Amino acid sequence: MKKIIIAIDGFSSCGKSSFAKAIAKKYNYIFIDTGAMYRATTLYALRNNIIRDGVIDNNAVLLALPEINIHFSEVEGFENPQIILNGENVSDAIRSLEVSQNVSQISSIAEVRYKMVLLQQEMGNKRGVVMDGRDIGTVVFPDAELKIFMTASVDVRADRRYKELIAKGDNVSLDDIKQNISYRDNLDQTREASPLRRAEDALILDNSDMSVEEQMIWVDDIIKNSFVDSRGQK
Ligand code: C5P
Repeated sequence: MKKIIIAIDGFSSCGKSSFAKAIAKKYNYIFIDTGAMYRATTLYALRNNIIRDGVIDNNAVLLALPEINIHFSEVEGFENPQIILNGENVSDAIRSLEVSQNVSQISSIAEVRYKMVLLQQEMGNKRGVVMDGRDIGTVVFPDAELKIFMTASVDVRADRRYKELIAKGDNVSLDDIKQNISYRDNLDQTREASPLRRAEDALILDNSDMSVEEQMIWVDDIIKNSFVDSRGQK
């Protein structure tokens, strides 16, 4: 099968990354979680007092951008590529509720998006990637061969996220998570710089009542029918 770009966009906590990881594993593709890049930028801003009490110093963000080096790397002991911020593996640290509460504001800054989009385009230029985010099918790779737009009810999404964080030992409430998800949905959809929206040619996947296995059957079918010919090649 010819290597393609699979763009997965959608609302917060829809399970985009779990789905994208499963596809990458099955087809031996590179998986890129673009949300992790915005989260790492937010972590940098929090650690460097660029965000204080939820208020972002936009000027300081612009000045800091050249100091923020982000890449993905294979790390021993981990199945998936880890996100490295200025030499440190921050894959765990970027999942905190504090980062979640500030990331949508950081990602609404046009200059931040510009830097991230260039990095993402570089990472995917050889194709054979599954990239998940909010603007992959609309801005990063508008020519992606397969675009999927994921959605699920807010209750289902909050419940999944809650279980994930509790399992990690985080002390969070379901209500706070639900609020955070609705808040991010709203900011992501209404921001001026590349808002979250479905590309016209994206297929919709509502996974409220679907397991990752069921989602894989759904996508395998599409890949087989659209990208692989009767001899198993294309
Ligand atoms: O995917 P995840 O929930 O980890 O993304 C965190 C945040 O990063 C989103 O709420 C959104 O504000 C931002 N984001 C974005 N564009 C992307 C990926 C994520 O604006 N391509």
